[in-house]
Amino acid sequence: MGRTMRTPIIAGNWKLNKTVSEAVALTSELKKLVVGTEGVEIVVAPPFTALEAVSNSINDSNILLAAQDVYWEDSGAYTGEVSAPLLIDVGCDYVIIGHSERRQYFGETNDTVNQKVKSALSHNLKPIICVGELLEEREAGRTENIIKDHVAGGTAGLTGEALLSCVIAYEPVWAIGTGKTATPEQAQEVHHFIRNLLSESFSDGVASQVRIQYGGSVKPENAAELMAQPDVDGALVGGASLQAESFAQIVENTV
Ligand code: PEP
Repeated sequence: MGRTMRTPIIAGNWKLNKTVSEAVALTSELKKLVVGTEGVEIVVAPPFTALEAVSNSINDSNILLAAQDVYWEDSGAYTGEVSAPLLIDVGCDYVIIGHSERRQYFGETNDTVNQKVKSALSHNLKPIICVGELLEEREAGRTENIIKDHVAGGTAGLTGEALLSCVIAYEPVWAIGTGKTATPEQAQEVHHFIRNLLSESFSDGVASQVRIQYGGSVKPENAAELMAQPDVDGALVGGASLQAESFAQIVENTV
């Protein structure tokens, strides 16, 4: 099964940016720019505080909603946390799990990623599982080991069917927010490696259907050549998703 069987997914990770009114303004502009765009899934991930307002704003559009994190318990004495049922309640379709900033600053591990993935799936929330190596790991020739660890850890215990609801985001940490993009060849090499890992752990059929996004300084200027790679099925976009025009341009350059 070739790339044509996988609908590309472009997701904007707004991180810790945008008040409710700024979020609604950005989505309103984006909606107009991507109206009628088909053949690509368009997703925005506002901060928790803006999820409900953005959900209402995209109700009548071709834009889907993601949260930036989730906790694995459904409810209870877990101050500060937000669970999958609460995210479903405000209209989320996806949730980003294991972003490198959460791994770096908030103690996220492959094990917590796996618990979050399982909880999200059990509530029909689709996980975008982030994996990626640090610069020193790449320079030490450890990229494949790290990716293997992140992919195997994040997807441990899942059935092939469950994996089909997941998206893997390959985000080399050295390319996030740095302006340094992986070359299309570097991205393709790792995406192909990930697909092979999924073939070994699940099956060729499952691996050929799972979408693998690239993330790391994706901009309108470099999107097309990255998306043209056979195993690159979309992008997870940080900085360039904060303006409707640049995000919409990336979407346009994907289809
Ligand atoms: C990200 O944080 O997921 C990301 C890819 O950021 P940026 O596009 O700003 O590098």
